[in-house]
Amino acid sequence: MSFGASEFRAVFLGAPGAGKGTQALELVAEHEVLHISTGDMLRQHRKDGTDLGLEAQGFMDKGNLVPDDLIIKMVEERLLQSDANRSWILDGFPRTLPQAEALGSSLASSGSALSHVVFFGVPNDVLVSRLSGRSTCASCGAIWNAAFKPPAQEGVCDNCKGKLLQRPDDMPEAVQKRLEVYSSQTEPLLGFYRSLGILTELDANRAPDVVYDNLVKALSTR
Ligand code: AMP
Repeated sequence: MSFGASEFRAVFLGAPGAGKGTQALELVAEHEVLHISTGDMLRQHRKDGTDLGLEAQGFMDKGNLVPDDLIIKMVEERLLQSDANRSWILDGFPRTLPQAEALGSSLASSGSALSHVVFFGVPNDVLVSRLSGRSTCASCGAIWNAAFKPPAQEGVCDNCKGKLLQRPDDMPEAVQKRLEVYSSQTEPLLGFYRSLGILTELDANRAPDVVYDNLVKALSTR
């Protein structure tokens, strides 16, 4: 399946736990699409022990946002790499208005622009149960959920038998903080992108394959 006439440059917008990452991984498995997740990039920096990773650590574990200047620089550098010269999804960026404005300017300066912003809408109570039941494989990164997609054996990844861990920021206190930060800092981006006429709103409180079909339709228009 093709996505309209040209390549897309898409942002996935939604609260933590809305399913952006899961849907992005599905899309990447089936199509030539680059998935740029700022959360994954930061977790990799932490694993590698870089200066950025060390700086980001405290903000991340408490459920706060990493400062705009650090994130904007990291994304701008990523978009300049040669493999970003095709359809891409930004997952988890932008999360603040200054980030959205910086992204717009940096794309404009290279003669480009966002083609789609897809919002994944999920009620708050569902987000809380999704996040608190979530575990991630320490080896292959697969995402499982005690309530919605349980592994066959508790604590063990079905795919690679790796150990399943709960992210520190999926602990109850940090989850609450992340949802507050989302509604105060990220939700205003809905109005920003609606006014640019590039926002598609999906009901993401549905079965993952239904959300996926609607996502592919959204990315195929325009
Ligand atoms: P995620 O995996 O997208 O939920 O991101 C995990 C954490 O990384 C967030 O709670 C933030 O601390 C940090 N992070 C990821 N993306 C951004 C961003 N665009 N701006 C600021 N902090 C971010």
